[in-house]
Amino acid sequence: MKVAFVTSEMFPFSKTGGLADIAYFLPKGLAKLNTDMTVFTPYYRTARIDFNLLSFLGKKTIRMGGIETDVNYFTYDFEGVKVIFVQNMHYFERDRLYGYNDDAERFTCFSYAVLEGLELLDHMPDLLHINDWQTGMIPYLYEKHYKGKFTYSKLRITMTIHNMEYQGNFDTYVARFFNHDFDYEYIHFDRVNFLKTGILKSDKINTVSPSYRNEILSLDYGFSLDGILNYRKNDLVGILNGIDDETFNPEKDKFIENYNFSNYKAGKLAAKKKVYDAFHLDKTYEKTLVIYIGRYANQKGLWMIQNSLEDLIHHSDAQFFFLGSGDPNYENFFKVMTEKYPGRVGNYIGFNERLAHELYAASDIFLMPSEFEPCGLGQMISMKYGSLPVVRETGGLKDTVLPYNQYTGEGTGFSFKNLSMIDFKDKVFEAIMLKKNNPKIWDSLVRQAMEKDYSMEKMAKAYLEFYKTIIGG
Ligand code: ADP
Repeated sequence: MKVAFVTSEMFPFSKTGGLADIAYFLPKGLAKLNTDMTVFTPYYRTARIDFNLLSFLGKKTIRMGGIETDVNYFTYDFEGVKVIFVQNMHYFERDRLYGYNDDAERFTCFSYAVLEGLELLDHMPDLLHINDWQTGMIPYLYEKHYKGKFTYSKLRITMTIHNMEYQGNFDTYVARFFNHDFDYEYIHFDRVNFLKTGILKSDKINTVSPSYRNEILSLDYGFSLDGILNYRKNDLVGILNGIDDETFNPEKDKFIENYNFSNYKAGKLAAKKKVYDAFHLDKTYEKTLVIYIGRYANQKGLWMIQNSLEDLIHHSDAQFFFLGSGDPNYENFFKVMTEKYPGRVGNYIGFNERLAHELYAASDIFLMPSEFEPCGLGQMISMKYGSLPVVRETGGLKDTVLPYNQYTGEGTGFSFKNLSMIDFKDKVFEAIMLKKNNPKIWDSLVRQAMEKDYSMEKMAKAYLEFYKTIIGG
């Protein structure tokens, strides 16, 4: 089977969140299952690959709404996967990946570039696997401009939704880039909506966990697209994300002193020493370290952390660290807390891969009280590193974290149901107290968490089965 995976970000070349991780893990996992994998991704400034390692594949001229621009294609053989970088200096070589006024134009150009670029491959793929709103227009453009051509006629398209909140919602003015008469298919509430178009026009759709798949069919989680999702319900499935054992694994991680369950305390101590030194935290290593790593966005339920942090500081002896960036309200809050409680609280504003690995290794408790969570990788990574997550029971968090059951002793973390700061705070206290007063039970939970299998292999196998339902055999 030949699959072209299309993504607006891919680790280690570009990353703002979980999509980049999955765009690395999944093609790699599928390639190991003998799937012929090609990945199309923009060549951003962050890619920083030695240009000598790239081979020039070809060049195409993209025409969209009176604009004419050239894109170059460079291939890079990367861990069994053929990565094709789509290069256009004007659209992609910028400081950030998203958030520009011309995002609709940038990702329409990328979409055309992918469809055009398929002709440069040795064989037309059987399946195009697109991801999120940035690639949502591809099935529409395919239908209008490519499907009729003989070489393209058998192509099937499937779309993965990694987050319903980001939809690529633009003024109708951008419709001129589609080189076709005005059409209601891409309109949603008088705006052009890239995600809606992808949902409507792809052969199949999936989200990244079974629970989130069901949640988005409701008004509360559908972000106004629940109607269209219900319309496509029979073609919508949920496949749980997984993490790559070579990237996120305390036994192999190149950023930390490696450990496994048998010496996890020593591993955590070594990582704590490094972080506490660098960020001037009190060197009370035996105390609990509670962390948050992730985007500072409302989705993540940070208001619960914001409103409970001082209580947690006053009524426990735990230490805290926050790594992330985004909403300035939270960036400032964590900065102020660090200044107000020196030694107890630390923070780092920005994206820092190394520090993230060190913190997963150093920490005892990982916070993820998300309002909604398509899958969430942070909680899976933290479990693997023996840091027990405190999560809200939603989406992928519900599907991956087994809440501690005091009667059976089973559990890989802690969870609460309601969107309530009090419930969240109670759970965090429960976790801190359990670690302090019942080290045996804690050890058993750490062992269960570290042994859980949320592997890339499992995810890749599930996608392969899913692909077969689309293209047959
Ligand atoms: P989302 O995709 O909603 O941002 P996920 O939990 O699915 O959240 O994935 C987040 C990924 O990004 C994880 O690999 C996490 O470790 C990483 N990450 C998030 N913020 C940072 C940061 N500031 N520095 C380093 N890694 C980060």
